[in-house]
Amino acid sequence: MSALPRASELGLIACTVCGLVCRNVPGDARLDGDGVGDDMACPRCGTTLHRRKPDSYVRTWALLIAAFILYIPANVLPIMRTASLNDVDDNTIISGVVELWRAGSPNLAIIVFTASIVVPMLKFLALGTLLVSSQRGSGWARVQRAKLYRLVELIGYWSMLDVFVVALLTALVRFSVLSLVEPLPGVIFFGLTVVLTMLASMSFDPRLIWDGKDTDD
Ligand SMILES: [Zn+2]
Repeated sequence: MSALPRASELGLIACTVCGLVCRNVPGDARLDGDGVGDDMACPRCGTTLHRRKPDSYVRTWALLIAAFILYIPANVLPIMRTASLNDVDDNTIISGVVELWRAGSPNLAIIVFTASIVVPMLKFLALGTLLVSSQRGSGWARVQRAKLYRLVELIGYWSMLDVFVVALLTALVRFSVLSLVEPLPGVIFFGLTVVLTMLASMSFDPRLIWDGKDTDD
């Protein structure tokens, strides 16, 4: 448990959009001014204020599980078709990696393997760990878990790398011995997995890491 007081204990809420720290007056200050009993709004930019992102656990779990389900066809279905003069190959992510390695592009093989196998697996593990430990109100390694969350957010920007590689290969056709490279349905499932894991990490509220069992709202 942290020795520092939480913003909610001091009656403060930070606006997530403009950063203004507002005083939280319970039962009062319906600041969006329409008179209906709705949530408090930021007096500067009008964004609805929440002490924690609403339904953070449910949304993050839902998005994460959906991403995991879509990750299965992303790996089983072929992601691209390559054709040279004498044969046509449909490659899944793994067979594509092996193919790239054999074709003498180990660097590209490592990039694709990292972007499409290692990174998504680490994201599933990291978000799952954050969800389970926060839901249990665990005080275990809070600083490291906060860092882990920031790392997950950071690598989110780079997860589309694999889709980018398919696009790149498609563009490279005219310079290579391959006469045809085209994306196949697997790449759509992979793209959806990436988008859903990014949404999952966005809907997780990192402030939940610092909440104990007593303050679970
Ligand atoms: Zn604001």
